[in-house]
Amino acid sequence: MRQSQFFLKTTKDVSQQDVSINAQLLTRGGFVNQLMAGVYSYLPLGLRVLTKLENIVREEMNAIGGQEILMPALQPREIWDTTGRWDIDVLFKLKGAGDRDLALGATHEEAVTPLAMSVMESYKDFPRAIYQTQTKFRNEARAKSGIMRGREFRMKDMYSFHTNQNCLDDFYDQTIEAYLNVYRRCGLGDRTFLTFASGGIFSKYSHEFQALTDAGEDIIYKVPNSHIAINQEVIDDIEAVSAIIPNYKAGDEKKLETIKTIEVGNIFKLGSRYSNAFDFRFVNPEGQKQDIIMGCYGLGLSRLMGAVAEILSDKDGLIWPKEISPFDVHLVSLAFEETEVAKVDEIYQTLKKAGLDVLYDDRPDLRAGAKLADADLIGIPNRLVVSKKTLENQKVEWKVRGTSEAVQIDLTSFISKIKA
Ligand code: ATP
Ligand code: MG
Repeated sequence: MRQSQFFLKTTKDVSQQDVSINAQLLTRGGFVNQLMAGVYSYLPLGLRVLTKLENIVREEMNAIGGQEILMPALQPREIWDTTGRWDIDVLFKLKGAGDRDLALGATHEEAVTPLAMSVMESYKDFPRAIYQTQTKFRNEARAKSGIMRGREFRMKDMYSFHTNQNCLDDFYDQTIEAYLNVYRRCGLGDRTFLTFASGGIFSKYSHEFQALTDAGEDIIYKVPNSHIAINQEVIDDIEAVSAIIPNYKAGDEKKLETIKTIEVGNIFKLGSRYSNAFDFRFVNPEGQKQDIIMGCYGLGLSRLMGAVAEILSDKDGLIWPKEISPFDVHLVSLAFEETEVAKVDEIYQTLKKAGLDVLYDDRPDLRAGAKLADADLIGIPNRLVVSKKTLENQKVEWKVRGTSEAVQIDLTSFISKIKA
């Protein structure tokens, strides 16, 4: 993509009230644009990142047998009355034709349960796991964490249906591994903590995936020498905590390190709460009806993108991990004479032919300093600078974002290294 033709404008400052690092960097870098507090557009750069992240999540959900669907955001009041959740405070409500009460989906247990009921009946139809990547709406009281807390945001939500507890437990454990793969592939592997949190009525805990950042809104207690933690809301339950830390006793929490984190995923064992509310039961081999057990598995996609921006960045801008970077290579041309431009164009074509996704800063009317500052801000991991001098030496200058050293290398060697 030629930057001279790209739908992109970087800016030095953002005037919006949101002071979170992710909002600042993503706005300045031209990834997102705020329409109002908690509501953002994704520009081509931002959508590329979000789409790559969503595809990683897709791959990991498919690998454990998840099947992708897409459910509506616009929902009738009746399904929320059925579960008694019409009055949850974050639900956006509106009126449809004929004054009908409607809601915008904040989560999809109410939509997915009757949907599953229309497809699954016999014990032979179980287990199943269905998921979507979709836009959620929540009327959050505060929306000051950029895309990490939106009023409209992207979530992957999966729901599983089982005839017995063992089956749910097995699938739930597989989901934990799949989630950890996602965070690792997004560059947050060593900063993500599997966190025991209050689970409601059907299991002792739910599990949250919490990513370490000062911009976080949660406090968790780290279990020493591990990537396991306990949410502060659970920490006073001595019995629960001693199941995680052997010989744990009152007062021990003072010895545990606390850290600020942001919740990037949350999985629950739901029991039969939603299935029973809709009178959704399965027929067993003896022809009798039995309770269905459900699990639900949320992963905040835009929040995860925001967390990566927040955590993997420096004073100059973003530093995207390879797998979710908007482009593979940022080719920055500092050569402006006609014969030189033709040579840089050729380099661009060679990179593209090698199968690399390239952002080509071919803008003719910009100083070197401004171009390099933009490249740092946008944060593509591999930057190739081409100037009069590198052209003379038949080299390109390669710098990996986040490191300080640049190397002179010939194009063929660069391509084979990057593709290795
Ligand atoms: P929080 O406690 O941060 O408000 P939650 O526990 O209400 O989140 P869940 O219902 O568990 O959120 O939603 C699943 C996932 O969706 C969360 O783990 C988080 O990653 C993401 N998420 C929740 N609310 C938002 C939001 N307002 N903006 C962006 N992502 C969100
Ligand atoms: Mg949660």
